[in-house]
Amino acid sequence: MPVITAVETFDIRFPTSLSLDGSDAMNPDPDYSAAYVVIRSDAPDGLEGHGFVFTIGRGNDVEVAAIDALRDHLLGQDLDALLGDMGATARLLLHDSQLRWLGPEKGVMHMAIGAVLNALWDLRAKRAGLPLWLHLSRLSPAEIVSLVDFRYLTDALTPDEALEILEASEPHREERIARLLEAGYPAYTTSPGWLGYSDEKLARLCREAVADGFTQIKLKVGADLEDDRRRLRIARANVPAGYPIAIDANQRWDVAPAIEWVNALKEFDPAWIEEPTSPDDILGHAAIARGIAPIRVATGEHVQNRVVFKQLLQAGGVDILQIDATRVGGVNENIANLLLAAKFGIPVCPHAGGVGLCEAVQHLSMFDFVAVTGSVDGRMIEYVDHLHEHFVTPVEIRSGNYLAPLAPGAGTEMHRASIADYTWNAVDSEVGA
Ligand SMILES: [Mg+2]
Repeated sequence: MPVITAVETFDIRFPTSLSLDGSDAMNPDPDYSAAYVVIRSDAPDGLEGHGFVFTIGRGNDVEVAAIDALRDHLLGQDLDALLGDMGATARLLLHDSQLRWLGPEKGVMHMAIGAVLNALWDLRAKRAGLPLWLHLSRLSPAEIVSLVDFRYLTDALTPDEALEILEASEPHREERIARLLEAGYPAYTTSPGWLGYSDEKLARLCREAVADGFTQIKLKVGADLEDDRRRLRIARANVPAGYPIAIDANQRWDVAPAIEWVNALKEFDPAWIEEPTSPDDILGHAAIARGIAPIRVATGEHVQNRVVFKQLLQAGGVDILQIDATRVGGVNENIANLLLAAKFGIPVCPHAGGVGLCEAVQHLSMFDFVAVTGSVDGRMIEYVDHLHEHFVTPVEIRSGNYLAPLAPGAGTEMHRASIADYTWNAVDSEVGA
C-alpha cells in the first residue's frame, strides 16, 4: 500500500511587474506567483502530483502556509484510497471543521485545498497515463457526479439532473474526443489589452492577434473613460469589422457607474464586460446586466465558490461564466461549476493567463466539451503568452486554438530549475545583491 511521504511547498514569484505585463485598473503591478505544492509517495512508479494557487505576489507566503496546514491530512495516508475516491478526498479536506472556520469554502484556505486537490488529480491522471481532460472524460456519469459536493446546490441543480446532463453526452464522447484532437479548442487573447502598454504596442498586438487566428481580443478598461475610448478606437481600427473585442474592468466600479461607463462604450460594440463590480455582489451583477443589455456580463475569476456561481446564474447576473483553475476547491468544485453553467445554458469561457492557468484550465474546458456540453459555440479559453516556458508540458496554440494536450497529468508541473530559480528568497537576495 503506497502512502504519501512528502508534501513540499514553494513560494514562487516572477518579477512581471517590471514589464507591466498583467496591468489593469485594479492591479497596476502584479508579480505573477504560485503557491506551489508537490505531493510524493513511496509508490514504485515515483510519480509526483503538482498543483498551485496563482497569486500576484505579496501574500503568496500566506497561501503557502495554508497549503502547509493541510499536510497532516495527507502524510502517511493510503494513496490508492485517496486517489480512488476523489469525492471523498475533497470532502475530507473541505469538511475539516476547524479549517472550514477560516472560510467557509472561500479565500486563502479554500484555494489551498484546491491546490492540493489539483495536485492529487495531476498524480491520478499521471498514474492513469492520460491527460487530465481525457481521464475525466472517460469516467462514468455516476462517478463524475460522485466528485461533486451538492451541498447548497440542490435548489438549482440536483445530482439526478447532473447525471442526466452527463448521460445525454455519454454516447457522443468519442466523436468529440476525435474532434478535439483534430481541431483543438478555441482561444481568445488578452495580450494586446494591458493598461500599461503604449498605443503603438496595442495596435501592433491587435493586428498580431487577428493574424494569429484568435477568436477575440480583450482590453482592460475602467481607469479613465477617455483613455478607454481612445484605446478601443485604436483596437477597432486594427481588427476586421465585427471582430469581437471584450472589455474587462477588474471590479473597478460600483453598480451605477458600471452601467454608465459601459453604456458610454457601446459604440465600440463590446463582446462582454468582465468583472464590472465586486465578485461577491450578485444582485449588483444582475442590475448591471439589465442596465447594459444587450451587452453581456462576464465574471468568475474571483468568484469564490459554487454557491456564488449558483446565485449569479439564478439572478441573471452572468451571461458568460469564467471559471478559474485555482480560485475554488480544485477540479471537483469546477466540475460543479461546469454542470451549473450547463443546467442554465450559459457558456463557460475560463479565466487564464497568470502563471500556469492556461496549462491547468484547458483540461476543464476540454472535459466540458467532451462529457458535459458538446459545444464550443461562444466558448473559448483565455490565452496570454507569458511564462509557459516554465512548465514541463506547456500549452500549445495553433491558429488560435488550444491543441488538446496529450501528456499524462494536469499540466501543472513546473520545471525543477524554474522552481529553484524563482523561489522567492532566491529572487529576493538577488535583487538585494
Ligand atoms: Mg479578467
